[in-house]
Parts: sequence; structure tokens; C-alpha cells
Amino acid sequence: MLEHDVVIVGGGLAGCRAALEIKRLNPETSVALIAKTHPIRSHSVAAQGGIAAALKNVDPEDSWEAHAFDTVKGSDYLADQDAVEILTKEAADVIIDLEHLGVLFSRLEDGRIAQRAFGGHSHNRTCYAADKTGHAILHELVNNLRHNGVIIYDEWYVMRLVLEDGEAKGLVMYRIEDGALEIVRAKAVMFATGGYGRVYNTTSNDYACTGDGLAMAAIAGIPLEDMEFVQFHPTGLYPVGVLISEAVRGEGAYLINSDGKRFMEDYAPSRMELAPRDITSRAITRELRAGRGVNLDGSAGGPFIYLDLRHLGREKIMSRIPFCWEEAHRLLGIDAVNEPMPVRPTIHYCMGGIPVNTDGRVRASAESLTEGFFSAGECSCVSVHGGNRLGSNSLLECVVYGRRTGRTIAEYVKNRKLPSFDAQSYLTEAQEQMKQLLNQAGTLRINQVRQEFQDCMTEYCGVFRSQEVMEAGLLKLQEIKAKYEQIYLDDKHPAWNTELIEALELRSIMVVGEMILTSALNRQESRGSHAREDFSDRDDERFLQHTLAYYSPAGIELNYMPVVINRFEPKERKY
Ligand SMILES: Cc1cc2nc3c(=O)[nH]c(=O)nc-3n(C[C@H](O)[C@H](O)[C@H](O)COP(=O)(O)OP(=O)(O)OC[C@H]3O[C@@H](n4cnc5c(N)ncnc54)[C@H](O)[C@@H]3O)c2cc1C
Repeated sequence: MLEHDVVIVGGGLAGCRAALEIKRLNPETSVALIAKTHPIRSHSVAAQGGIAAALKNVDPEDSWEAHAFDTVKGSDYLADQDAVEILTKEAADVIIDLEHLGVLFSRLEDGRIAQRAFGGHSHNRTCYAADKTGHAILHELVNNLRHNGVIIYDEWYVMRLVLEDGEAKGLVMYRIEDGALEIVRAKAVMFATGGYGRVYNTTSNDYACTGDGLAMAAIAGIPLEDMEFVQFHPTGLYPVGVLISEAVRGEGAYLINSDGKRFMEDYAPSRMELAPRDITSRAITRELRAGRGVNLDGSAGGPFIYLDLRHLGREKIMSRIPFCWEEAHRLLGIDAVNEPMPVRPTIHYCMGGIPVNTDGRVRASAESLTEGFFSAGECSCVSVHGGNRLGSNSLLECVVYGRRTGRTIAEYVKNRKLPSFDAQSYLTEAQEQMKQLLNQAGTLRINQVRQEFQDCMTEYCGVFRSQEVMEAGLLKLQEIKAKYEQIYLDDKHPAWNTELIEALELRSIMVVGEMILTSALNRQESRGSHAREDFSDRDDERFLQHTLAYYSPAGIELNYMPVVINRFEPKERKY
């Protein structure tokens, strides 16, 4: 059995920032960081547009209060306002700290950090490194982990959380290189496992975003918060779904329908293309439904609309958003200097997740905490994004709450002993599970079942939802779930068995999908990204509260938790 003071699952921004903080505060602590990819290949590396902070470099009128208000309004008033206050107040400090770590931000003429406009933000406050911000930050963080003696287990797949008597005690993990199973115990376990874009069939997320941490926590008995809030990013490149950053609109690009019209004037006249993502994604979906989408031959009635950059000019495109130009060129052969890009909404971000307090401690229920268990980043829900996240607030959340959670853990493990549990029984169960998967005499390929599941989620729980459709979706989903028992694996070898990993990931996808759909069915209102055709208004009386969903193989139980409102009273949300 392996032993560490702290084990962190996840090598993205949140996990790395937490690990670094623990080592800074207490270099003697044994901190292990585990990731199923190499840390540098975590989805954080793909973040493009930037990270928000009221630095006032471009806009002296900005303030943390304005940032907090924009965030709460963007969330459709579901964000916890104490958590938002921390996020926005600590923002400037974490940016300066990143810069001291070596992150190369883009600059203004006078040398200060540059800041651009972003959707839903009332001031220019998004700091960036061209359109490769995640890359710039993650590389420096991972470098700093090594300097600080964090032990890295890369390409290990964590398959189970050991949680007994309300206490997280360790993990069961699998070394992808040779198929070895290991049990690790620790005084503190942290999940920073990122999002779940792959629950759907079209997403901006990478292949590893399968919601494993969410599923493992749920299976262990931890509730998941606000899972119905799934962010669609308005501009996924058609047909692949790859992201074209909001930075492109931040730099001035237009959204155009088949009539050549900037249709956002009908939906958010004051913010136009820079309205929040939920509003913009719905606007595009409405345009497509009304037959004002475009086809590949340029005719009307098609599946996408245009993102038009042509008026920005080559120099601006190549200096501020070169990566987006490159993506469209590489994937579709489009030169965005001269041609508009075909785009449509794509699954992008998970607002809900493992419920935590503002110190990163995982909740066991609305009133109680779990011992030894911590979480930060996209897999957690603190909740700073509520019903809809503003662009460039997620990287910020990872860094602010990664750092805070690191601090909490550094203190928490000081006087704690390693927990005890029966490691052998966990090992035997894991061996059995693997054997069962390898020897299953099914007739279905993993890919077939996964595709069916992803199509089901996309069709029955998309941008617009209704009771009838979601109920049908849940029935279908149960049928597809049953097919898990009928999959078979071609590869029986222990080394680099990616098929086996995909089988484990498929289980995560299925648990998370069911949590999303069930939570969505029960929220009978429209708020943020959750748009019900049968309940088109926001209903603060019944639903100004967080959903807590408890998983069990027999079914999902729902409970609700109050929202912290201490600064901004809920108002109608208009842009
Ligand atoms: C294309 C794209 C562009 C984006 N651009 C921006 C932006 O400009 N600004 C912004 O604020 N946000 C942006 N976002 C969102 C933001 O990047 C993410 O929310 C954030 O980076 C998530 O970081 P994280 O540390 O929580 O998780 P991730 O970076 O996703 O890392 C998750 C880690 O967990 C590990 N892991 C998961 N499951 C297991 C397992 N079972 N066993 C072992 N390890 C596991 C993975 O290997 C990985 O290391 C973007 C997202 C995408 C997809």
C-alpha cells in the first residue's frame, strides 16, 4: 500500500495550484499528485481566452465589486455570494502571484498586463496570453511542482474513492503502463478531476473529460450539486465542436445569420455578441430553429451560423487570436481573415459538481462536511457560477480556490494520523472488477454504447428542455445503461490497455449523465443555462436554491440547499 499525507487527483490548474500551496506552506508534507494523463495534458492546457481579475490596467473604473455583481448576475442569482466575493477579491493577488511564478501574460504598450473584453463582464478585465492562456499558466505551475518536490503519478487512473464512516481515507488506482493496481491511503484526499463534456456527443472538451471524479464521489455517497446546469459555449466550430474562444468576440467579431444580420440585437441589444453564454447559445439555437441557419453551400436553413472576423484585419487576428485562426484553418481549411467561420453551440463547462464550502471542504449534506475530503476546480461546486458561468471566471476559480483548498489541507493534515482501513478487501474487489470487464462475454463495442448514451443526452437534455422530452430521455438512458453488461473488450493485455480505461470512463459518463438528467427534470423553472420550454420563467419562490442529488444504483434522490445572498438582491436579468 502507498502512503502520503495528501493525495490530489488531477493535474490541471486546480490540482497543481493546491499542491504548490501545500508545499509552500509546509515543505515537509508528502504531497502526491495523480493524473490519468500527463499533468500538462490536462484540459486546462486548452484554455484560450483568459482569466478575469479587476486589475484596472485597461479600465480604471473597474472594481472587485463590479466583477462580483457581473458574476452573480451572470449566474442568474444562483451563485453563493460569499464565494463570489472571495473569488473576485482575491483575483488580483493570484494573477500577480502567477506572474511571479513565471507566467507570460500579454502586455500593454507600457508593460502592464493587458486585459480584454469578455461576455457578461461590464469592464475589460480578462488577462490573457494571446489565445493560449491555459497553456501559459499550466506549464509554469507544473514546472513549479517539480521544483517544490510534489510527487507526480502520471498516467495512473484513479478508479475508486475509499470513503468510510463519513471520512475519505484513500484511493484505489490503476497504473495504465502495466495494469498494476494499488491502494493509497492519505490524511487528506482532494479531487480536482475537471469536467464531463464527453457525457454529450459534441463538446469543446478533450477526450479525458469524462467526469470520473464526479462519478466516484457520487458512488461513494457524496451528493452532487446543481448538475442540471450544463454550459453550452455559443461558438463551437461546425461540425467538430472544437472551441473558438469567446476572445474572438471579445476582440470584436460578429455573429451573423443567413440573412447576413447581426441577430444578437434581437436578444441582448446592450451587450450584442458579448452577452453571457447561456443567452447567446439560446439565441443561436432559436435562429437555427427559425430557419436562419446556414448550409455549407451558403443557403439558408442550415445547421450553423457565422462567426465573422473579417473586419478585424489580419494583423489583429494574428496577434490576438492566432490559435483560433489556426484551428479553423487546420480543421476546415478556412482562412478567417477572408471567410467567416461556421459555428454552433457546443457543450463546454459543468457549473455543478462536488459541493464544497469556501475552504474547499466537501459537504456530506446541506448541513454537514465530510472528513478528509477536499475538492476544487471544475469538478467542484462552491458555487461561484450558479446557473451560468461567465467566460474567464473558471481559470480564476481554479487558481483562487485551488490555493485556498491547498491552505486548508496544509492546516488539516498537521495533527492527523493516517487513517486505517482494510486495503486488501479494496484490492480484491478492484481485481475482480477488472477481471469481470476483461472477460465479459458481450456482443457490443464500447464505442457503440458510448455513442448511444452521448446521443441520448444531447437529444433529450440539450439547450432547451421539457418534462416530456426528459422523461423519455431517462427511460432511454436506463435501456442504454443496461447495455454496459453486454460490452466486450478486444484487448485483454495489461499494458496500455486503453480499451479498459474507456470502459471505466463509460461508467463515469453514465453515472454523471443520469445525475444531470434527473436534476434537470426536477427543476421546474428556467434559470441560467437551464431553459425549460414548459416552465419558461425563473421561479425564485420555489427554486432559488441549490439541488443536491444523491446517487444509488436503485435511483437518485434529490434534496435542496439554500443560496447565500448577502449583497445583491435577485432581479430580473436583462442585457
Ligand atoms: C477548449 C477550452 C477552452 C477554455 N478556455 C477557458 C478560458 O479561456 N478561460 C477560463 O476561465 N476557462 C476556460 N475553459 C474552462 C477551463 O479551462 C476549465 O474549467 C479548467 O481548466 C478546469 O481545470 P481543472 O483543474 O478543474 O481540471 P482539468 O484541467 O480538466 O484537469 C483534470 C485533471 O484530472 C485528471 N483526472 C480526471 N479523472 C481522473 C482519474 N479517474 N484518475 C486520475 N486522474 C484523473 C486529468 O488527468 C487531469 O489531470 C476552457 C475550457 C475548454 C475546454
